[in-house]
Amino acid sequence: MDLTIQYTNCDAFSGELCKLLINDNNVSKINIILLYIKLGKSYSQILVPAYIHEITHTQVDTIIGSVENYHNAELLPIFMEKLVALQTKNKEFLNDIERLRFAHTLKGMASLMIDRNISEEEALENSMYIVSSLQAQNLFNKYLEGNDDIKHEIIRNIQNVFDGNKTLENILKEMNISFENSLDKKMIGKRLIK
Ligand SMILES: [Zn+2]
Repeated sequence: MDLTIQYTNCDAFSGELCKLLINDNNVSKINIILLYIKLGKSYSQILVPAYIHEITHTQVDTIIGSVENYHNAELLPIFMEKLVALQTKNKEFLNDIERLRFAHTLKGMASLMIDRNISEEEALENSMYIVSSLQAQNLFNKYLEGNDDIKHEIIRNIQNVFDGNKTLENILKEMNISFENSLDKKMIGKRLIK
């Protein structure tokens, strides 16, 4: 797949996958055309997880039905940004990435609670980021704490979602990950509040 990158003035951690949805009324089907990936133009190591996040969107966003619940749309992209930061074997870098994501989640929570002028669309998007990032953290904790078999199982499951063989919701159920158990204080505190 040939997908260009457009560098913009956005900060290094806020990339975007730009796509076009075309409703084909003849076959009542939605076609998704990927246009380009937007990334921040000032180079830093943070661009790597930001890029992987958007590449993951190219996998999950193009197979309609692989993620059934709108609120889970950011879960795998957020998980993959953590995973790639882990692969650098630089603990500080992984901490930075997790803290940036957590700060983004807290900002979303604050705006839902305080901002009276928030539009319905923004509120929905914020709630989606909150649900996705807490569950992504839960899945990432299972990956970190799991033995090699569990690590392989998680990666195999994610590949199954990319291939359209399983839904994300299926694997969350199998791994006992829900929004409710992702709110567990111990779960959040384990890596993010020290
Ligand atoms: Zn995203």
